[in-house]
Amino acid sequence: MSESILEEVFIKRSQQKKKTSPLNYKERWFVLTQEKIAYYDYDPDKGKRKGLRGSVDLEKIKGVETVQPDSNLSPALEKMYAFQIIYDEGPLYIFAKTEEIRAHWLKRLKEMVRFNKDLIQKYHPCFWVDGVWLCCQQEVKQAMGCKVLDSKNGFTSKQSRRRGSRKPLPPTPTEEKPGRPLPPEPPEPPAPSADMTVIAEYNYTPVTEQDLELRKDEKYTILEMSDTNWWRARDKYGKEGYIPSNFVVEAKSGLERFDWYCKNMNRSQAEKLLKTENKDGGFLVRDSSKAGKYTVSLFSKGGGETGGSCRHYNICTTAQGQFYLAEKHFFSTIPELINYHQHNAAGMVSRLKYIVANRTWLPSTAGLGYGVWEIEPHCLTFIKELGTGQFGVVKYGKWQGQHDVAIKMIKEGSMCEDDFIEEAKTMMKLNHENLVQLYGVCTKQRPIYIVTEFLSNGCLLTYLREGLKQHPTAVQLLEMCKDVSEGMAYLESNQYIHRDLAARNCLVDANGTIKVTDFGLSRYVLDDEYTSSAGSKFPVRWSPPEVLLYCKFSSKSDIWAYGVLMWEIYTLGQLPYERLNNTEIVDQVSRGLRLYRPQLANVKVHSIMTSCWAEKPEERPNFQELALTVQDLLYELQ
Ligand code: ADP
Ligand code: MG
Repeated sequence: MSESILEEVFIKRSQQKKKTSPLNYKERWFVLTQEKIAYYDYDPDKGKRKGLRGSVDLEKIKGVETVQPDSNLSPALEKMYAFQIIYDEGPLYIFAKTEEIRAHWLKRLKEMVRFNKDLIQKYHPCFWVDGVWLCCQQEVKQAMGCKVLDSKNGFTSKQSRRRGSRKPLPPTPTEEKPGRPLPPEPPEPPAPSADMTVIAEYNYTPVTEQDLELRKDEKYTILEMSDTNWWRARDKYGKEGYIPSNFVVEAKSGLERFDWYCKNMNRSQAEKLLKTENKDGGFLVRDSSKAGKYTVSLFSKGGGETGGSCRHYNICTTAQGQFYLAEKHFFSTIPELINYHQHNAAGMVSRLKYIVANRTWLPSTAGLGYGVWEIEPHCLTFIKELGTGQFGVVKYGKWQGQHDVAIKMIKEGSMCEDDFIEEAKTMMKLNHENLVQLYGVCTKQRPIYIVTEFLSNGCLLTYLREGLKQHPTAVQLLEMCKDVSEGMAYLESNQYIHRDLAARNCLVDANGTIKVTDFGLSRYVLDDEYTSSAGSKFPVRWSPPEVLLYCKFSSKSDIWAYGVLMWEIYTLGQLPYERLNNTEIVDQVSRGLRLYRPQLANVKVHSIMTSCWAEKPEERPNFQELALTVQDLLYELQ
């Protein structure tokens, strides 16, 4: 096992082996060691790396260079910074989020392969796409490069030197292919793996006899991870049982150990928390909206604003991998940097005086305890009515007297119950911080109940129309869009189609986070007015032409609805195509009519909406790309 030198999440382009094979782009966790550059599956939800997908041995590298952007790339990728690793198999194309990260990796890689034999003198500055080099139009992949390397790039030496630490015969590069077994001996164990040590980020009280109690900050050994949501673990006393996987983090991942680190907190939530604490110099460190980066949020009473104000400082990285904040005091780790600024303001409004961290809220578990999906009705207490929907009354209540839940009491005859109950087992496994969690069902009596996570700020549509106390900021509105795009990207990656995405089917939690609900449920509605596209309750205003005309649902029809949902957010809950009735909408939308730009939406935001409303489904972006675009925009605002 070799120490990692650099680690980063990049987008990787599939290596086009055949002229006709379609290209795809996936997020991968790249790890550079003395011997190789390896890439792993990456779980953006947990920020963890998973199984090894491939690697390139450093000895085989013939060149490392930037790649010029290609105008045929999706807008999100075009904005990224591409580079190529050239080896026997051709180029491996990698997209970095910032110029800084790309430069850092290029520099380090160049240093490491500087003495390789067979280094190339010429390279292709543009992509190889569909059997042709875009720079020189040559149609042979092995064709010699068309551009001479710059002599400053570190490739001038043809001298070959072996480094002692290298292993004699490393495995050949492995390219990802679905279904292909993993290489026999990966350089590091593919994470997460059984036997991994994790630290509890939250307390967890066992719900079933099979569960294991979690105590915050204690270590646990993972024994089995065949269910992604519930892992079998052992505590330090040797006790074993199931734990919710999203309550723990891998022990080595670092910042989670520190009280000032609030993973998964966004800018508005940080401001809310810091203002509530109301302490001069109160601070926390959170994930920046830019993947892999961190931001320090600091509250100060010194500024002009009465009652104090929040500042947000991005933690910057130098080309050498050092960290700094407002002024250029460099540190090799983030904890060292924070420690320094706890004593020195050094360019900020104040030093970091008080740690303000919020670990009191809990993420939701996939089901209430391992293997529980049938809930005993006598464990539920009904507290108050929340509203009435398509299936009847929805109530707020407690499960086992302590856990908040929402209970949908399914009006008899309103749902195709048997089919739903079967589907519920699949739905329970969907677990994401931007999806309303299904906890279980009560099916032994009538009416049946659907028990879900409870979100105290209720329905997004009402929240937009009435709940936002002040005028929302640009960041707040875009963060709502980001939340939905991430929940939907998760559904998309699970090939799950929502079919009824709209502001009325999103809920708002106590922190202002938006979560998507009712995914897939429309398939079980027994009401022609709702299910037939000619029916009065059919979501015509959220449907693309192919749904209105041929009932063709797909993730791309969800994308169209997402565009309309963005429009609802930016109009603070207006009815789309307010002056038109359903028949007029079908007619006009299929003839090219689109919603206008809301006043609160700038040109960039509006162009995201319109990209969702491309007539041809294949011309619309997917949710993964959308989430990246929204994240980039958000970063520009901060
Ligand atoms: P249906 O999907 O059956 O048509 P809804 O999901 O629209 O019903 O629920 C009706 C109302 O109940 C919503 O507008 C919302 O205010 C409230 N509600 C539903 N689910 C929850 C929940 N999980 N947390 C908080 N409020 C909820
Ligand atoms: Mg609903």
